[in-house]
Amino acid sequence: MAAILELRDFGLYCPAGDFYIDPWDPVERAVVTHAHSDHVFPGCRSYLAAAPGEALLRARLGADAAIETLAYGERISLGSVTVSLHPAGHIAGSAQVRVESRGEVWVVSGDYKLAPDPTCVPFEPIRCHTFVTESTFGLPIFRWPEMNEVMSEIHAWWRANQESGRPSVLFGWPMGKLQRVLSALHTAVGPVYAHGAVERISRIYRESGIALPATKPPSADTKSALILAPPNCQGSPWMKRFGAASTALVSGWMRIRGTRRRRSLDRGFVLSDHADWPALLTAIDESHAATVWVAHGFRAPLVRWLQEHGREAVELPMRQTAPQPEPEDCEP
Ligand SMILES: [Zn+2]
Ligand SMILES: [Zn+2]
Repeated sequence: MAAILELRDFGLYCPAGDFYIDPWDPVERAVVTHAHSDHVFPGCRSYLAAAPGEALLRARLGADAAIETLAYGERISLGSVTVSLHPAGHIAGSAQVRVESRGEVWVVSGDYKLAPDPTCVPFEPIRCHTFVTESTFGLPIFRWPEMNEVMSEIHAWWRANQESGRPSVLFGWPMGKLQRVLSALHTAVGPVYAHGAVERISRIYRESGIALPATKPPSADTKSALILAPPNCQGSPWMKRFGAASTALVSGWMRIRGTRRRRSLDRGFVLSDHADWPALLTAIDESHAATVWVAHGFRAPLVRWLQEHGREAVELPMRQTAPQPEPEDCEP
């Protein structure tokens, strides 16, 4: 039987349905898992995405892009296959793509996490024959602490900075990550300011009904404030207004020793919107897939582990693209 998906020059392709999933070049029909720039290539003739992700996708692709949407779980026929989109728990509107043909089911996870996130619908385990998983953090060293613990650390750091009269600048990914942090912030501690690139996305979240505390643009008095900003603001002229601010980054990469020092940050907080090592194994287990394709990130270690544990696993030679910051991320 022909494979339901195959890797072509432009990405994962479904011949029977004539569409690509998260292509990295413009194609006729793209089914996209979520609005991060490494998954959405501009210039495709049409896009199919989960309805809760439409506004974020629109923000990236512009008003003219042809975007069709499906509710989570809704099924449509494309060519001779049935396609549906299911929550991936990664950012608002993120989806796994389920493709079924004559009783055979393939699922492409996109980016996902199993950890709780107040800003998006939780990951839904789907039974399938072949599971295409991401592996951004596919090494056993990657294990995330509980979000509550991380938030306590962030609040303690913020309070300590207030006592020494320094603003707290928290860098993080402006689409998804900082909204997740914002949703769990105790705003009674002090004022929360957001860089324009963060606020632009937060506004979309709020408009789609996700509860987020209000944030203001940075004002003159920032000494007791927490400021949310994209990582590429670090060292930019935009930062000058905060004087001797304490800086921190919230990222799964902070799990790696030395990252904080190398990036000249005062603190690092380990919070990721990707599955950690145990979560990758859990998701793969719960898929009951006989075959696992591993795309993105640390592919080889995960493939080896799966093979050693009796599963058929294949390393997918995807073109690796890092997500790009928004163009207006850090204008002064
Ligand atoms: Zn992503
Ligand atoms: Zn990604």
